[in-house]
Amino acid sequence: MLTIKNLHASINGKEILRGIDLTVNAGEVHAIMGPNGSGKSTLSAVLTGNPLFTVTEGEVYFNGKNLLEMKPEDRSREGIFLSFQYPVEIPGVSMANFMRAAINAHRTYQGLEPISASDFLKMMREKKELVELDAKLTNRSVNEGFSGGEKKRNEIFQMAMLEPKLSILDETDSGLDIDALRIVAEGVNKLKRDDNACMVITHYQRLLDYIKPDIVHVLYKGKIVRTAGPELALELEERGYEWIKQQVDEE
Ligand code: ADP
Ligand code: MG
Ligand code: MG
Repeated sequence: MLTIKNLHASINGKEILRGIDLTVNAGEVHAIMGPNGSGKSTLSAVLTGNPLFTVTEGEVYFNGKNLLEMKPEDRSREGIFLSFQYPVEIPGVSMANFMRAAINAHRTYQGLEPISASDFLKMMREKKELVELDAKLTNRSVNEGFSGGEKKRNEIFQMAMLEPKLSILDETDSGLDIDALRIVAEGVNKLKRDDNACMVITHYQRLLDYIKPDIVHVLYKGKIVRTAGPELALELEERGYEWIKQQVDEE
């Protein structure tokens, strides 16, 4: 589904990603872990086409298409979804209008008619239930005045509505209490299918108690320095990142 080859990216002339190689297949959940400032959010920003970052080298293919040549909105329409580390508030735009516009933008791209009002309402109801989103929140402006937990849950709601092929969750767990964490993780688990994939970016192993990754990567100084199974996340939980930093710095 996703193939990243030797990806380098910089911001304001400062190189942040320094040669990322990563392959994600349909049906897989990958955890991207790593100390603060290692480039995790940068990787998600580059994959979704954030114009602040410049790709200086490398290739990215998504379902056979050259992702780096696509506009951010087309990457979304092709099925890439990013849940932000810090979801933005959009005052004056209701959740319902926002979601309907997003869904119709995807449908138009696929050559489909806009969704009918009744189908849309039915879908909203089903997905709200799925992620246990407070029904009242969808009558409000996007994220405006939402608590931290509500914003994160709302991200998973948007993911459920858009049914992406590849979901990238950037520190969706940060700032969540244990109940919100469980609900968010359960939402992600319910949305998992053989034909979609997920990249879970997290500093801590906590979220991975609920979302079982198939493969765990450690990003450090803009490179993937370790790749292993779920046991790597447990080891990081126990030992922290210092030992990996030391090993890599010595290498
Ligand atoms: P992580 O998500 O792993 O904590 P980031 O991708 O946010 O790491 O950051 C990686 C590096 O890029 C850090 O050194 C950070 O300071 C730098 N960086 C990120 N965004 C910007 C920006 N907008 N301007 C300058 N430096 C940035
Ligand atoms: Mg960070
Ligand atoms: Mg980050």
